[in-house]
Amino acid sequence: IITLAIETSCDETAAAVLKNGREVLSNIISSQIEIHKKFGGVVPEVASRKHIENINIIIQDALDKAGVTLDEVDNIGVTYGPGLVGALLVGISTAKALAFGKDIPLVPVNHIEGHIYANFIEFPELEPPFVCLVVSGGHTHLVYMKDYGEYELLGRTKDDAAGEAFDKIARALGLGYPGGPLIDKLATKGDKNAIDFPRVYLEEGSFDFSFSGLKSAVLNYLNSLKQKEISIPVEDVAASFQQSVIEVLTQKAIKAAKRMKTNTIVIAGGVAANEGLRNMLKERGSEEGLDIKFPSRILCTDNAAMIGCAAYYNYLKGNVAGLDLNGVPNLKLGDK
Ligand code: ATP
Ligand code: MG
Ligand code: FE
Repeated sequence: IITLAIETSCDETAAAVLKNGREVLSNIISSQIEIHKKFGGVVPEVASRKHIENINIIIQDALDKAGVTLDEVDNIGVTYGPGLVGALLVGISTAKALAFGKDIPLVPVNHIEGHIYANFIEFPELEPPFVCLVVSGGHTHLVYMKDYGEYELLGRTKDDAAGEAFDKIARALGLGYPGGPLIDKLATKGDKNAIDFPRVYLEEGSFDFSFSGLKSAVLNYLNSLKQKEISIPVEDVAASFQQSVIEVLTQKAIKAAKRMKTNTIVIAGGVAANEGLRNMLKERGSEEGLDIKFPSRILCTDNAAMIGCAAYYNYLKGNVAGLDLNGVPNLKLGDK
């Protein structure tokens, strides 16, 4: 089965071609970062317009790289939420036109589910059940994935997402957008124990997260130095902040695996690209006899290959959409 997948939920215009769900024949990503950078974040209206300009070119590129013609495509997978509604609609409308024109199934995909499925591409033998830590720009979830398409939400952030915290602290440090990769890099040069930022675990046994207190603590620290006209130790702040985030993520993910009696923890989403998080989970996980898995970096951040993989399994389950498919900006994991 050949799947053509389209992803336009935020600021990446992406298309991919997959064979039987797990074999990536092409994975084309056109990032709008350079455009949004000067605004310090994604401007929704600008994102939609850029998607419109790029989408057909990116799809053609994906087909060419895969050596596949549109006539050979068996189904079309598309992200229908969560995300920016105007951005989502560009991908959805394009997918509908192709599905209608070629008379092939249109398969709706939840973007967060897509992030999780990136692991099925990276690890051809991986099968549920497992615990998944989803850490992206807009979401922080601890999920028990029982089976394909079946999720139990163990916990989620009460306020900021992990990626959002990285981006906000990077902005306060004057590093630019997106902040995660920049903090990740600076952190390797700093002392992670230099500043004692809070680690928020919430109630005993809770799998929820909260990052707004940490964010305030870092901002207060930066302000107090500015007032005293002391120069900011940027590397140490990056390292100490990152340490605080990844400590909490790691501890809770390991506890969740124990609670659910599984030996496998999978990480997904943009923050899964974080070197510190990958290393800490590997290290602590192996001490606990756990198998820690994460996708290669290009599959962690937004891409269409992960959407194609999820589409394949949705399709096998008969989960296809009509031409009335709409964008759902706040779609939840497990919603149909
Ligand atoms: P969502 O998937 O929740 O809808 P999104 O699609 O915008 O949000 P992703 O593309 O999954 O988010 O991830 C982008 C986020 O990942 C950004 O917040 C970015 O700063 C963060 N990120 C990317 N690379 C790293 C890294 N190496 N370290 C930490 N954070 C990172
Ligand atoms: Mg993005
Ligand atoms: Fe994403």
